[in-house]
Amino acid sequence: MRILKIQTLRGPNYWSIRRHKLIVMRLDLENLAETPSNEIPGFYEGLVEALPSLEGHYCSPGCRGGFLMRVREGTMMGHIVEHVALELQELAGMHVGFGRTRETATPGIFQVVIEYLNEEAGRYAGRAAVRLCQSIVDRGRYPKAELEQDIQDLKDFLRDASLGPSTEAIIKEAEKRGIPWMPLAARFLIQLGYGVNQKRMQATMSDNTGILGVELACDKEATKRILAANGVPVPRGTVINFLDDLEESIEQVGGYPIVIKPLDGNHGRGITIDIRTWDEAEAAYEAARQVSRSIIVERYYVGRDHRVLVVDGKVVAVAERVPAHVVGNGRSTIAELIEETNLDPNRGEGHDNVLTKIELDRTSYQLLERQGYNLNSVPPKGTICYLRATANLSTGGSAVDRTDEIHPENRWLAQRVVRIIGLDIAGLDIVTSDISRPLRELDGVIVEVNAAPGFRMHVAPSQGIPRNVAGAVMNMLFPNEQSSRIPILSITGTNGKTTTTRLLAHIYKQTGKVVGYTTTDGTYIGDYLVEAGDNTGPQSAHVILQDPTVEVAVLESARGGILRCGLGFESANVGVVLNVAADHLGIGDIETIDQLANLKSVVAEAVYPDGYAVLNADDNRVAAMSEKTKANIAYFTMNPSSELVRKHIEKGGVAAVYENGYLSIVKGDWTHRIEKAENIPLTMGGKAPFMIANALAASLAAFVQNVTIEQIRAGLKTFRASVSQTPGRMNLFNLGKYHALVDYAHNPASYEALGSFVRNWTTGQRIGVIGGPGDRRDEDFVTLGKLAADIFDYIIIKEDDDTRGRLRGSASDLITQGITQAKPNCRFESILDETQAINKALDMAPDGSLVVILPESVNRAIKLIKVRGVQEEIQPQS
Ligand code: ATP
Ligand code: ATP
Ligand code: MG
Ligand code: MG
Repeated sequence: MRILKIQTLRGPNYWSIRRHKLIVMRLDLENLAETPSNEIPGFYEGLVEALPSLEGHYCSPGCRGGFLMRVREGTMMGHIVEHVALELQELAGMHVGFGRTRETATPGIFQVVIEYLNEEAGRYAGRAAVRLCQSIVDRGRYPKAELEQDIQDLKDFLRDASLGPSTEAIIKEAEKRGIPWMPLAARFLIQLGYGVNQKRMQATMSDNTGILGVELACDKEATKRILAANGVPVPRGTVINFLDDLEESIEQVGGYPIVIKPLDGNHGRGITIDIRTWDEAEAAYEAARQVSRSIIVERYYVGRDHRVLVVDGKVVAVAERVPAHVVGNGRSTIAELIEETNLDPNRGEGHDNVLTKIELDRTSYQLLERQGYNLNSVPPKGTICYLRATANLSTGGSAVDRTDEIHPENRWLAQRVVRIIGLDIAGLDIVTSDISRPLRELDGVIVEVNAAPGFRMHVAPSQGIPRNVAGAVMNMLFPNEQSSRIPILSITGTNGKTTTTRLLAHIYKQTGKVVGYTTTDGTYIGDYLVEAGDNTGPQSAHVILQDPTVEVAVLESARGGILRCGLGFESANVGVVLNVAADHLGIGDIETIDQLANLKSVVAEAVYPDGYAVLNADDNRVAAMSEKTKANIAYFTMNPSSELVRKHIEKGGVAAVYENGYLSIVKGDWTHRIEKAENIPLTMGGKAPFMIANALAASLAAFVQNVTIEQIRAGLKTFRASVSQTPGRMNLFNLGKYHALVDYAHNPASYEALGSFVRNWTTGQRIGVIGGPGDRRDEDFVTLGKLAADIFDYIIIKEDDDTRGRLRGSASDLITQGITQAKPNCRFESILDETQAINKALDMAPDGSLVVILPESVNRAIKLIKVRGVQEEIQPQS
């Protein structure tokens, strides 16, 4: 077996609209191509031994053990690899359920599709599954140690990719609310929502978080001074920079017990509390100096440690933090108890689990000593032995939810404090013996205010009710469901995508909104080019969706991007499918036009249920997509008596129809005439029917988004794209006595479309200079010849400079074949050199004629035309 290719999908795709995270592996079964599993001696047994949990896979029989039954009875190896890859991830704690296996047109080569949670883990699982299966084929077994290593590696991928418990909580809440999110290029920075409506977060700082508040909170001394000045109870204390000042400072705060801590520390680093002697104080000073130059000396307040979380001005959670401790059982030593406690699967390293493993430090021994113990003591049953003085979760502390217990006055105080500091999300550390009584009564204090407080202790307290604090953050950032998104209009089809995308963007601009759009020639925002190039994949979509100025996204979504990565967004408001015609068949395992239609259908299906699929009623494969999408349907048609559209309108649907020379929107009993085709430059005076179809599609897409008829009309009438913007797209030149047209039609459907325009050319002869890229199939050249015979009065056949491996003259011969088959008396000649062919055509052009050039090099063709003195560049779209 050999893996030929692994692709990672991240959006709605050919295999599934809903499951975005899929790995597609192209797998060559090689010598196993004709051997189902039942014919491989010992395979079934070896597989069950290696992965007994495969018993849980139902597969097509639909019951437990169903998949293994298929293995015993005989199934192909690709299918087995799929299930194994899913199971490996499952064993590593990643729940994935979706898989598909399909044989490609090449016998023995399969596409194996598996779901993933983590991209790297998914790819790894695919490779490991192949390794595992191959090993069982070759040796009857897969070594246990290797399997364990695989599972460990998979777990590591997941852990390394973790964004931390707070961010994970935020992402989970966003997904629950249908708020799109994506990681940004800077680590830990995530974007919630799209375009102009986006918000950013980094851990628990949002883009509402003010820098002044953060700076203030990070300076514990300044915070205390500001709070004290506002009458808030804070620890009595002072800041020193030299050991010499220590003694005096202790007196100043009222003598022992004291606390010494670094001025700008966090996570409890360098803090010593409950210091009772000079020796302890000196040691504590040194420890704090490791973290910060300036040292806080404070009175020690006896009490329990609370974290009060305030979001958007309101207390949303309160947790009591209990320092790391063990509870005696009368038998074990403290060392043993620690070990036992750390076995808790909820305890991990750092912040990657609900709790952190207990680790001892300098203060731990002191604390134990004070309690009359050392590591080898056996505390009596039920006694609590504290191991750390401070309660930070990251030093092994645990949390008890006290949200419902906080006294209203304390709640008011906490909210007031956060307003004074100026933070949208803040965590207050409050030391008091009982949070359910006013701080004042108990001599409680607010020790500090934290910007970017961790959510872990609130979403997963060791005791008490978990609090949905991420929900409060979402309510603050996005007061209602819609407010995170911008309209997305996505366009696909075999031909006309770029034209329609540009036109739709132009129409939308009439509303005054900032439109971001992507096309085959580049990515644009408003009137400016962001980036040139073929930008029809998800990365380009992200450029638009990440831009903080964009109010509307119009995205050309070509087949390549959908196949390679899936769509770059979850759902669109409008999905437009223009047409499906033979092109690029045989590439990317898309062999038939129906498969191509299934691929393009992704754009119609990945639409919000309250959005619209805008479909071409005149193209059966496109019209049929109405069955697959859950969105509303809107049809466009060139045929005013279309039965499908008539019924659709009767049922209350909306449509765009070309009738009596007008582009019109029909809804209910009303026909809203937008504009006469003749007056729309894009349609070349109404002579290019396929452009009218594109204009109908764009108008309809805008209309269902509530763009007004007037705005649509204004857009249609003013849409102009210069040759420099769209070279090779219906570029028409007036050469005085005759016209020349350059177009890069590249498949039968677009020749046909071009033909519909050329046939409308009634002032004189129609001369064609035709050819095609050498890598097309033989029959494609014959078809081109046949179509051309039907369109032109005179044909000059030429070939590309680059024949792409084809024998020179062969393409010409095939085209000739097509021409003579279709029209034996057709006038034509063959001039293989493109420049000569074009010049010949231009030389011979009689008055009133049209010379149509389908060149290899659009620029060269345009140059050859321009040297002849172009009087007017009738813009491709003007
Ligand atoms: P974190 O980042 O987890 O909030 P930190 O390193 O910023 O911790 P502080 O919050 O200042 O440090 O102190 C850590 C803990 O030490 C407090 O939550 C509290 O339990 C205890 N503590 C600090 N100062 C005092 C004090 N003056 N009296 C009593 N306990 C204190
Ligand atoms: P690509 O696949 O190269 O990105 P596209 O789908 O973006 O193409 P356009 O660039 O808009 O298409 O147009 C390319 C050519 O296709 C046009 O010059 C014209 O010949 C033809 N064409 C445009 N619209 C249609 C249509 N609706 N039906 C058939 N052919 C069309
Ligand atoms: Mg703190
Ligand atoms: Mg395009």
